Amino acid sequence: MAELPDKKTAFIDWYLAVVEEADLSDKRYGVKGMNVWTRYGFRARRNLDHVMVREIEATGSEAVEFPALIPATEFAKEKEHIKGFDAQVFWVTRGGLTDLDVPLVLRPTSETAIYPIFALWVRSHRDLPLNVYQIVNTFRYETKTTRPFVRVREIHFFEEHTCQVDEETATARVRSNLAAFRRMARSFALPYLSVRRPEWDKFAGAHYTIAFDLPLAGARTLQLGSVHHYRDNFSRPYGIRYEAADGEERYVHQTTFGLSERLLGAIVGAHGDARGAVFPSEVAPFEVVIVPILSAASGEAVARAAREIADELRQAGRRVRLDDGDDRPGAKFYRWELAGVPLRLEVGARELERGELTGVDRLGRKLPLARVRLAEAVAGALTAFDLELGRRADAAFREAVAPATQLSELAGSERVRLLGWCGEEACGHAIERAIDGALLGTPEEPLPFAFPEPKACIACGRTDGVRVALAAQPM
Ligand code: ZN
Repeated sequence: MAELPDKKTAFIDWYLAVVEEADLSDKRYGVKGMNVWTRYGFRARRNLDHVMVREIEATGSEAVEFPALIPATEFAKEKEHIKGFDAQVFWVTRGGLTDLDVPLVLRPTSETAIYPIFALWVRSHRDLPLNVYQIVNTFRYETKTTRPFVRVREIHFFEEHTCQVDEETATARVRSNLAAFRRMARSFALPYLSVRRPEWDKFAGAHYTIAFDLPLAGARTLQLGSVHHYRDNFSRPYGIRYEAADGEERYVHQTTFGLSERLLGAIVGAHGDARGAVFPSEVAPFEVVIVPILSAASGEAVARAAREIADELRQAGRRVRLDDGDDRPGAKFYRWELAGVPLRLEVGARELERGELTGVDRLGRKLPLARVRLAEAVAGALTAFDLELGRRADAAFREAVAPATQLSELAGSERVRLLGWCGEEACGHAIERAIDGALLGTPEEPLPFAFPEPKACIACGRTDGVRVALAAQPM
């Protein structure tokens, strides 16, 4: 197998090669931007969903599922929203041989599918808050170059939609979502910037948008997800009202929280290295791969012991792959490193005699694991692996963000830039031209490192009303 492209100098090529070689996705499907989930990739996706579901349900949200097709009449009700989305939708205009009276939109996102029904579900203040989520496929007519997990036309989408009594409780829901994402990101060992988008870059129809940006190689960032406060921008056109305790009719305030399989792309992009993917154990399709080291004399006994060890670890709840195929051990090591398995166990005659197996984690660290109480030792090794993976990702994150005080520093920047901005849109666009990317916005949560507070707008030099902002090249 050929060597992978260099991650630092040819990031996109490296990323595409890892996705392909690790067998996470099959890109040969006949529609651009619609990839096939392979058996291995699907396992990773299912684990990712599991973390999202666990953390959102811990905040009292419940699962629902709405239809994929939306009547054009409902889709058109919120004007800003349709302006933002109508260039991206797939339309269904015929049923069999008949043109439809009301054309249908294949959901690009589900506000316009869900909110007419919310208007029926919400009657009284006793029906609030209403916090529900769904994990469904959404569809966008993407015209740019598509990339597996990162920019696709069929999106594996997590979306929470909520109704709250007023603006303040909706703000509290936004906070709760930010905290839930922080917990999810810990499971993925992903550090990120939590950023309030500028007005011109917020979600279509939102009052404001907070997005999570992951710095990658160069000045590149990847948006991991977003949380939106809608105020009553949607509840008015969709008639989502309730009778308050004082008997008055009021419109609900709404929030949404969106994530997708992009997180899988982020995990590959952030943690992967020259040897392939590296999965944190909660997401890894297999946490442990067992490779028997067979010889003519001890083949039978070793093969049996390897099977016993696999069973034992599975019974302890671990996701285990026993690679007892005919390839040489070296070829197996190579394959499972490429696939990003956190821990490899080597089982040979020598190991069995000693009562101690050789463990090698995906960061290349060798550890002896006692055969007795093996499940416990493996659990400890995986925890240590996750901690070290997170520590390395944090270090790379710090390295990827740097302050800038002159516009001239932005051209060809190799890092995400922290700078002063007066808040004017014209200055924002000047910054975007200088970095050939985007003004991501202003940090919404404290940054995890200290930096010199900017004194003036990097574009116009004004010193009053200056705020910290981040600029980068979104992937
Ligand atoms: Zn300015």
